[in-house]
Amino acid sequence: MKGITVNDDELYMIVEPGVTYGEAARYLASKHPDVVLPSVPPSVPTATVAVNYLEGGDGCGPGYASRFGSAFQTNEAFIMGMELVLPNGDIVRTGSWSRNDSASKFTFRKGHTIPLHELFVGAHGAFGVLTKMAIMLCPKPYDVIGRMYAVNKVEEGAELIHKITRKGVMSMGSLCSWIFAPMQRADLAPYPWEVTGGKTCLPDDYMKKWRDEIFPGCFPGAKSGLEGFYIITYQPVFDEFEKEAVEKTVEKAEKDWNLRRIDTDKMFIPAIEYFLKEGMARGFPGNTRARYLGWRGGGNMWPMLGQCGYKDYPKIHNAVVPIARKFGFEVAMHTFYHYGRTGHCRFIMPFNRMDPDECMRVAGATLEIINTCYELGLTNNRAFAIFTDLEWQRSVPGYVNLIKSIKRIVDPNGILNPASGING
Ligand SMILES: Cc1cc2nc3c(=O)[nH]c(=O)nc-3n(C[C@H](O)[C@H](O)[C@H](O)COP(=O)(O)OP(=O)(O)OC[C@H]3O[C@@H](n4cnc5c(N)ncnc54)[C@H](O)[C@@H]3O)c2cc1C
Repeated sequence: MKGITVNDDELYMIVEPGVTYGEAARYLASKHPDVVLPSVPPSVPTATVAVNYLEGGDGCGPGYASRFGSAFQTNEAFIMGMELVLPNGDIVRTGSWSRNDSASKFTFRKGHTIPLHELFVGAHGAFGVLTKMAIMLCPKPYDVIGRMYAVNKVEEGAELIHKITRKGVMSMGSLCSWIFAPMQRADLAPYPWEVTGGKTCLPDDYMKKWRDEIFPGCFPGAKSGLEGFYIITYQPVFDEFEKEAVEKTVEKAEKDWNLRRIDTDKMFIPAIEYFLKEGMARGFPGNTRARYLGWRGGGNMWPMLGQCGYKDYPKIHNAVVPIARKFGFEVAMHTFYHYGRTGHCRFIMPFNRMDPDECMRVAGATLEIINTCYELGLTNNRAFAIFTDLEWQRSVPGYVNLIKSIKRIVDPNGILNPASGING
């Protein structure tokens, strides 16, 4: 296919900008069915592969499931090499690919001397224009073991996701507020405008009743409608022996740790989340992010996204939810966690973009949430524009000076993406 070259023997793909996740997944499934992408984001299948890896996108997939999973925190770690054009017309290549006659151009990430990939990652094109990217591929899993568990409190969920993934019972997990499930079934569980007209947040007793209808019997004893979280964990396996071994380990963990399993065969709304993420663990692009856009009038704000340790999830969640509710919104926490190091944490706040009052309120909530999350240490893994400035205000001066100096050398006239926040 134009824009993609695959070597399924040595497990890499060279992809050009413009090729979407949908196209890449279809191409691999039809022409190279034994290999899959190492990581896919939950976003939209129209997102482009190379730029998402260049941005340090967040997601999951079989690449995170290797025992080296803890080394791969966001997607850029799967980049094997890049080709870019600099403002002076130079063509630069990174990693082993920088040597013309290297026998490991697309298979040895570091290469000789300094690999240079990271100079361009997260720079939003401010240092050079990407023309090609080599990405590692993974063998297609034989199967995926996946489970969904219920916990009442976010603190309990954070401990559990760490325990499951850190001990390697299953390598990947996602912890979410229960409200994220209906947000993704806008067809079956749309925003209930009749309750408050969207002027104020949904009352606690309404939330509680709604939650218990969607997740019957899952949250015994939960006192408030703001309680109720689910964990989806998954482990790709590569043959029937590994499958049997992982299933036994999971069974033991379920008994030893009293895990409360959510039966997705019986719960139609939670099932969509489970199957979307299970597909991602197999290397197929998710589409979860597109689904919630229709929940409350077509608008969605991610007031903040970033990386933090699992112990920070509850602190950040418990600070963000009251702010969103004060401004009249429901907000869902969504996280990804791989092997017990830092995890991705983001908030999803749907709003009615046709209503000027909601737009003003969402802006107010977002500003307050951003400041709160920065105060609590959440590190924005895709800072741009004003976020670059906010990150730099908190950075050691030497780091900022070095980046500015490199930018002045590479792009003295500041012609590449002035909106990135890296100029100046
Ligand atoms: C509803 C929704 C949900 C999403 N959820 C997630 C998610 O959960 N996880 C996730 O990882 N992502 C998520 N995303 C982001 C998405 O996956 C894409 O990574 C992102 O939208 C980039 O889009 P794009 O590929 O169209 O690139 P563009 O929007 O075209 O570009 C993005 C940036 O890269 C720069 N750029 C573009 N081309 C080049 C080039 N050739 N060389 C150098 N720089 C270049 C641009 O200047 C720009 O700064 C979501 C997006 C949407 C719309």
